[in-house]
Amino acid sequence: MSDNAEKHRIVIVGGGAAGLELATSLGKKLGKPGLADITLLDATATHIWKPLLHEVAAGTLDESEQVDYLAQGYRNHFHFRLGKMEGLNRQKKEIHVGATFSENGNLIIPKRTLTYDTLVMAVGSVSNTFGVKGVAEHCLFLDTTAQAFKFQKQLLEMYIKNYIGNEGKTVKPLSIAIIGAGATGVELSAQLHEVTNVLATYGLKEPNDVKLCIIEAATQLLPALPAKLAQATQQQLTALGIDLKLGRRVVEVTPAAIITQDGEYIAADLKVWAAGIKAPNWLKDLDGLETNRINQLVVDSTLKTSDDAIFAIGDCAACAWKGHDGNVPPRAQAAHQQASAVCKSLVNRLKGEALVNFVYYDYGSLVSLGQYTTVGNLMGNLMGTVSIGGFIARVVYLSLYKMHQIAIHGYFRTVMLTLSNLFRRSAFAKIKMH
Ligand SMILES: Cc1cc2nc3c(=O)[nH]c(=O)nc-3n(C[C@H](O)[C@H](O)[C@H](O)COP(=O)(O)OP(=O)(O)OC[C@H]3O[C@@H](n4cnc5c(N)ncnc54)[C@H](O)[C@@H]3O)c2cc1C
Repeated sequence: MSDNAEKHRIVIVGGGAAGLELATSLGKKLGKPGLADITLLDATATHIWKPLLHEVAAGTLDESEQVDYLAQGYRNHFHFRLGKMEGLNRQKKEIHVGATFSENGNLIIPKRTLTYDTLVMAVGSVSNTFGVKGVAEHCLFLDTTAQAFKFQKQLLEMYIKNYIGNEGKTVKPLSIAIIGAGATGVELSAQLHEVTNVLATYGLKEPNDVKLCIIEAATQLLPALPAKLAQATQQQLTALGIDLKLGRRVVEVTPAAIITQDGEYIAADLKVWAAGIKAPNWLKDLDGLETNRINQLVVDSTLKTSDDAIFAIGDCAACAWKGHDGNVPPRAQAAHQQASAVCKSLVNRLKGEALVNFVYYDYGSLVSLGQYTTVGNLMGNLMGTVSIGGFIARVVYLSLYKMHQIAIHGYFRTVMLTLSNLFRRSAFAKIKMH
């Protein structure tokens, strides 16, 4: 695997919010001066920052936001390997990578192993279906870019099928149900509402052709945000005509509907499950590494697992949140901070110095309602918790993504990308139409 077998080999599995930032910074700090051999393995060839997936699903994201891992590796002095990790041999310090196939099923790369001196697991999370009947079969998910594109394609095809050829006739409105009123579900509903209006502007449908609804077991939207902000969001969504069905626990999903604990039957053409996360199931049996009840790898305050050579960061890591009950939340800002901490630790380790203790700093939570508004709360040492909304909240929300872009592209390229996107948006369709 390595260009030079004597160099310390660091393998990072997963090039998401955490892993790609880590590979980029380690590439610059250790790869470039030849102090270590850095390899990033990911199941896909390109990266899209996961909080943008609801925009991919709605078709509003510019495709230039995708990062090509091979080019990123070339520019930042790490190797990229395409493949899906399937197993681990801690004694031999090997990870097992499954075979890679083309879209039409041809073998591209056979099964193989990669050897490491230090391994960093950053494989993220997937939707937790909580074993509810029919969810896996009949719901769409927003866990991966491929799923988000599948959603977008299905959505557009449904619009076309319902509208083209039926102009002027009374057609049954399309119904979309989102299960889960956390940030993902709420942001997706606002994006879909926006898309509906844009499609009407382009003449593809009538403005009232789509009915959106959110179904949530809790009696409040956005359980992680203060009640005041949740109420403001609730008012905004209600004003947009989004039907909020709160206090309804889903017990079954069928091809045509969602059934709640009280026996309510909610018919829906498209059903999206956004009701919670867990780490992938295969982490449960990863050569004896300790996991919690949602399969996350348990790490200590330095983000190290029970094996000295293996770290875990991002959504797949269970890291106690100092001074709070429970663990550091599965968020992009946690992934960003953990990537920085492990980068410092691995640089230190090569110099024979101590690992860094990770302390999570919660800067607050923000929820974007697309073009309509952004709401959230900011945490500060001096001011305590401050509720914000509107333009300021939008700017702070966008700055989280800008921090990720700066970590992987640097300041200059991020400014150039931002400017070029502004120009592109004025010239091309606001949503993806193919
Ligand atoms: C729609 C949506 C909206 C969100 N909005 C917000 C938000 O506004 N603010 C916020 O803070 N957080 C948000 N989040 C959560 C945030 O995206 C995650 O907390 C963050 O992306 C976690 O980073 P990560 O690196 O752990 O995982 P990810 O970013 O998911 O990256 C995991 C990577 O691992 C790769 N991978 C997975 N399995 C394997 C394997 N077996 N082998 C090789 N590679 C593998 C994947 O391809 C992926 O590239 C949102 C999430 C979603 C889904």
